Amino acid sequence: GEALAVSARVAPLGSRLVLLLVEDLTEARRIEAVRRDFVANVSHELKTPVGALSLLSEAVMDASDDPEAVMRFAGRMQIEATRLTNLVQELIDLSRVQNDDPLEDAEPVRVDELVAEAIDRSRQPASTKQITMAAGGTADLHVWGHRGQLAAALGNLVENAVNYSPAHTRVGIAARRVTAPGGDLIEIAVTDQGIGIPDKDKERIFERFYRVDPARSRATGGTGLGLAIVKHVAASHGGEVTVWSTEGQGSTFTLRLPEAGAGRDRATRSHHDH
Ligand code: ADP
Repeated sequence: GEALAVSARVAPLGSRLVLLLVEDLTEARRIEAVRRDFVANVSHELKTPVGALSLLSEAVMDASDDPEAVMRFAGRMQIEATRLTNLVQELIDLSRVQNDDPLEDAEPVRVDELVAEAIDRSRQPASTKQITMAAGGTADLHVWGHRGQLAAALGNLVENAVNYSPAHTRVGIAARRVTAPGGDLIEIAVTDQGIGIPDKDKERIFERFYRVDPARSRATGGTGLGLAIVKHVAASHGGEVTVWSTEGQGSTFTLRLPEAGAGRDRATRSHHDH
């Protein structure tokens, strides 16, 4: 293709340069493809609920003399509208975490508060399924970062743990400090006894819109954006998110984030003072 043609043209300049140019082109093209795929995916994901809403409103009009049917269709319209709202909200969250530098607003954030907030966010669906949520080890730990983004990341992990678990199971959140050469890290692990993730999907679940089972994800109101947000937040804080899972038995998602203190907060504060 084009890259090859270019490489042929500049070949006399030496193979090193050619290699660099070809790599640059390949990278630029990869980014362009990712962007195009993203726009196509967003359009597709938006069209599904909008199409359903349009069909359902027609059905309501046709059924105007059958109040029971009208109520049924209206109920389904409400589900589609909720799905659309979730999708738009998650798109806004994603663009926000991608555009804002979290470390500009970084502060020490209490891990027990983050965990309490995440548990609170999933309290309703957890109680419906009688899933027990329990946290441990969070006392006296502080991470360094953007409170809102960190809350969104942990909230997504707990939400997924509840969504992808059967009734009467347990979701555990465990925090601890781990020593690392570049400064201590705080590890927050969210463990469920849910459906688990097949090995072949483990890498891809962090991609935008990727789902192991799109039908199931849609049924739980999923958007396929949650883990992309988590991954982005972890990386922009200088941390990471990893997954351990056995299909049919459960999953553990582990967030590793820089600990507050260890000079990080002081360094940034003096930077702000100038
Ligand atoms: P979704 O909105 O579909 O939950 P996510 O980006 O949060 O999107 O997750 C991507 C996919 O990863 C999900 O559709 C699901 O297949 C899988 N997944 C995420 N968390 C879990 C979990 N705790 N247990 C099993 N599968 C999970």
